Amino acid sequence: MTSPMVRVRDLHKSYGAVPVLRGVDLDVGAGEVTCVIGPSGSGKSTLLRCLNHLEKINAGEVEVAGELIGYRRHKGKLHELGPRAITRQRAAIGMVFQNFNLFPHLTVLENIAEAPIAVLRRSRTDAVARARELVRRVGLAGREDDYPRRLSGGQQQRIAIARALAMDPKLMLFDEPTSALDPELVGDVLGVMKDLADGGMTMVVVTHEMGFAREAADTVVFLDEGVVVESGAPDDVLRNPRQARTREFLARVL
Ligand code: ADP
Ligand code: MG
Repeated sequence: MTSPMVRVRDLHKSYGAVPVLRGVDLDVGAGEVTCVIGPSGSGKSTLLRCLNHLEKINAGEVEVAGELIGYRRHKGKLHELGPRAITRQRAAIGMVFQNFNLFPHLTVLENIAEAPIAVLRRSRTDAVARARELVRRVGLAGREDDYPRRLSGGQQQRIAIARALAMDPKLMLFDEPTSALDPELVGDVLGVMKDLADGGMTMVVVTHEMGFAREAADTVVFLDEGVVVESGAPDDVLRNPRQARTREFLARVL
C-alpha cells in the first residue's frame, strides 16, 4: 500500500449500551478507493462518522493523514485532539450524505463558495472563481445561479460533491450518495465519483452500487454486525467471497 490516509485499529463504538462497531480495522492508502458494503444497521454510517469527528469513539485508534483522531489503550485513558485540531481536521475531510443537505436559501455558487470563505478565509473573488470551475467539473455549467430546489436530486448531489471539493479535502467520505435518487439520475453522480477516483482522490464510499464498487474500488470491505467480515480486491470479495455471510449478503443485493 501507498502511504496510509486512513488507519483504523480495533475501533469500538457504542450508543449507550448497544455496541455498533466491535473492533474494526481499516486501512486506506493515499489515492485509494475503498467501498464499504453491508446490510442496513451493520454500522457503515457510524464508521464514516467516526472518521470525521461526528461521533466520539469508545476505544481503538483512528488516524487520518497520519494524525490521531481518538485513541485509547484498554486500561489507559482517552487521548483526544483539542477543538482547534478537530476543526482543522474536519475541514480536510469532505463528506457527502444521502440527502445532499444543500443550503436551500443559497444559490449553487454560494453553496460551494460559503465554507472556503467562512472557514478557509479565502477571498470572495477566489472562492467564487473556484466554485465556477467546480460546477463545470461536475457537469453543471450554466446552473451557477439556480437555487437547489430548481435542480434534480442527481444535480443537487453533484453540487454537494462540488461543495465538498471546494475545501480541497485530503479524503472524501460518501454515505450512500445515490440511495435517495431516482434510478435514471444515479449514473451521472457515479460518473462524477469515478472521475474523482481516477483523478487520485482518496475515497471511502458506503454504497449498494456493486457495479461502481467493482469498477472504482481498490478494496471492498464487507461490514456485518459491527465487524469487518471480509475485505479485499473487488473481484475477490464480490465474485469469489470466502465467507458465508458475504455470500448471503451478495445473493440478496446482486
Ligand atoms: P448502517 O449505516 O450500516 O445502516 P448505522 O451505522 O447507521 O448502520 O447504525 C448501526 C446501528 O446503530 C443501528 O442499529 C442503529 O439503529 C444504531 N444507531 C445509529 N445511530 C445511532 C444513534 N445516534 N443513537 C442510537 N443508535 C444509533
Ligand atoms: Mg447508513
